[in-house]
Amino acid sequence: MKTALVCGAGGFIGGHLVQKLKDEEYWVRGVDIKQHEYRETAADEFLQLDLREEANCIQALTLGDGTFDEVYQLAADMGGMGFIHSAECEIMHNSVLINIHMTHHAARLGVPRYFFSSSVCVYRDMQPGEPEMTEAEAIPANPDNEYGWEKLYSERMAQAYERNQGMTVRIARFQNCYGPYGTWTGGREKAPAAICRKVAEAEDGGTVEVWGDGTAVRSYTYVADMVDGIYRLMHSDLQGAVNIGCPEYVTVDELVRTVAEVAGKTINIKHIDGPVGVQSRNFSNERIYSTGWQAKYFLKDGIAQNYPWIEEQVKKARGES
Ligand code: NAD
Repeated sequence: MKTALVCGAGGFIGGHLVQKLKDEEYWVRGVDIKQHEYRETAADEFLQLDLREEANCIQALTLGDGTFDEVYQLAADMGGMGFIHSAECEIMHNSVLINIHMTHHAARLGVPRYFFSSSVCVYRDMQPGEPEMTEAEAIPANPDNEYGWEKLYSERMAQAYERNQGMTVRIARFQNCYGPYGTWTGGREKAPAAICRKVAEAEDGGTVEVWGDGTAVRSYTYVADMVDGIYRLMHSDLQGAVNIGCPEYVTVDELVRTVAEVAGKTINIKHIDGPVGVQSRNFSNERIYSTGWQAKYFLKDGIAQNYPWIEEQVKKARGES
């Protein structure tokens, strides 16, 4: 039986990844600073550890007399645009500490395969209509936020360990990911979850507030597609960073209209000031396509899976179910 360590297993994508690895018949240890808020872990063992602490990273990585066949490092101080713009120091400090210790000790303990979850936030801003950007075009670098700079640094650190210490490293740059069991309220939620919540809270014919003018372009990747991409990438021979994202690009207003359609509500949009991030995105997926990966969920299909779960959370929070 193969063994895997998933760091960030108490979080959104990590929780889904643990389930995927169990479906593939791995023995899985999950690690996180907190328990999962919305579901029981599917991991065989769950350790609650603060991975900013070096000793905790060593504990997480140690299995009997050895270590794991595969390590998936998804732990990060993480949130949507509101969090990214207000918590620059926490992101730069906490996530880099986790990655420094995890990468160093994984290589030292002889982990054969190490996965690092990066982000398309490493890229510069784009204008609508620009041709696709490939992974190599992240350099020369000009990320729009500190979260992107931290990811770029941690990518390069992992690659340095691959070159110098022989640990196979796989790096995914995720586009925006959404789905059930993700943060949907509290300030760290990302745009799809925030919009689903606002629409669930609104009356039919009501209004939701949207940060910015609604024209920012994004791609949204359903979580089942994301974990499929992670798994395929981990078992591929693709060195260097690899974009994973649904090739459907929509504006924020189109995202709201899709959620409203799935909810069966007429919703008006009110644009207000707020952190928006970059204007546009358009990335090549050729590298991940070479593994046989394709997005199975386009936005409306994924929102149809996600919205009912968030609507249920909203009702529970209001004491309605
Ligand atoms: P998430 O916040 O749900 O999961 C991250 C987990 O890391 C959380 O459960 C958190 O408690 C844990 N963590 C934070 N600090 C820790 C610490 N000191 N010790 C141990 N655990 C700690 O976020 P997610 O959406 O599941 O993201 C997973 C990874 O994917 C992150 O690295 C994130 O940067 C990356 N990513 C996500 C998206 C997205 O759209 N969700 C996009 C690009 C990249």
